[in-house]
Amino acid sequence: MTERVVTAESVDEALRLVKPVVRGLGAYTLRPYEPRIKLNQNESPYDVPEPLKRRLWERLADRPWNRYPPFVAADFIAAVSEVTGWPEAGVLVGNGSNELIQALLSVVVEPGVSVVIPEPTFTLYQLVSGVSGGTAVSVALDEEMRFRVDAIIEAARTSRAAMIVLCTPNNPTGRSLTREEIERIYDSTDALIVLDQAYVEFGGYNAIPLLAGRPRLVVLRTFSKAMAMAGLRAGYLLAHPELATEIAKAKLPYNVNFVTETIAAEMLRAHDLLQPGVDSMSAERDRIIRELSALEGLTVFPSDANFVLFRVEHGEISHTTLFNRLLEEDGILVRDVSKYPMLEHCLRVSTGTPEENDAFLAGIRRILGQ
Ligand code: PMP
Repeated sequence: MTERVVTAESVDEALRLVKPVVRGLGAYTLRPYEPRIKLNQNESPYDVPEPLKRRLWERLADRPWNRYPPFVAADFIAAVSEVTGWPEAGVLVGNGSNELIQALLSVVVEPGVSVVIPEPTFTLYQLVSGVSGGTAVSVALDEEMRFRVDAIIEAARTSRAAMIVLCTPNNPTGRSLTREEIERIYDSTDALIVLDQAYVEFGGYNAIPLLAGRPRLVVLRTFSKAMAMAGLRAGYLLAHPELATEIAKAKLPYNVNFVTETIAAEMLRAHDLLQPGVDSMSAERDRIIRELSALEGLTVFPSDANFVLFRVEHGEISHTTLFNRLLEEDGILVRDVSKYPMLEHCLRVSTGTPEENDAFLAGIRRILGQ
């Protein structure tokens, strides 16, 4: 049977129908890493406590699975409003903050519209602006990976940008903007200012208090990092209610399923339970910075997030060798970010548990011979 289906003739017939541009591409392959220690995606190393998980699963079992979830994820939105103090009418919730980034950009960006994006940053913004036909105007960070505030303002003015995207703290670099810098960018431009605060629980200025009276400001937050629920796919957006109403038009109906709605609402109300994990990650991040900084051949950048960026400038060990040896000899997976603009020879390590970080630091010392 298999023999008969997989003939050269039937394969050619099928492949003829695939777009030539696709045929010309190399396949994207991801090595099936099963690392012992996973420090590549800025997740929390601390899972949600088991008794809480079980209680939530019981609640889900009581829900009617045959019915659509509520049209508006009302309880999730109410919980966001409770913890942020921002009115429910100005809250949108999504299937991860990625979905809200897409909705937000799709109601603003079209051909001829410019979006100012400091680089390097989270690559989704470039991608989604491009898919919408807009023009991404890159503004390089400085050598120390700080935001160049004057250059951002200048680029927004000269390109008449509709939007400025500021990930603060920034990924994959880790630095953040001060309150004064955000205010200055807001006051000096007439663009929408998007503050992606996926990592703000770990450090940097929390911009929610700036929202009141600034209708061009949008704040994005996620459950995937400090909230320890990357698998849940949940995030939220805060904006002036009338702006939120417009952005909601680009969201699919029922974008938040009942599992996410139920768990996200409950976890927001119980977020104190997650605080020890967040405190541990912030302290461990500082320790990783300290200990990496003491090694020769590395340049380590400050970070307000749950990860650390470092450049490998070692006579004998390249960043690729370091990446591979950590994985092969220690089972430790970090992120190779060397293809980002400005980040040649750079790796990024997410903060794990103290034991995982010990293993990472011991591995790196051994490989660098120090
Ligand atoms: N924003 C930034 C700056 C990020 O680094 C990430 C995750 N890499 C996200 C958003 C994505 O978050 P989510 O999982 O909520 O879609």
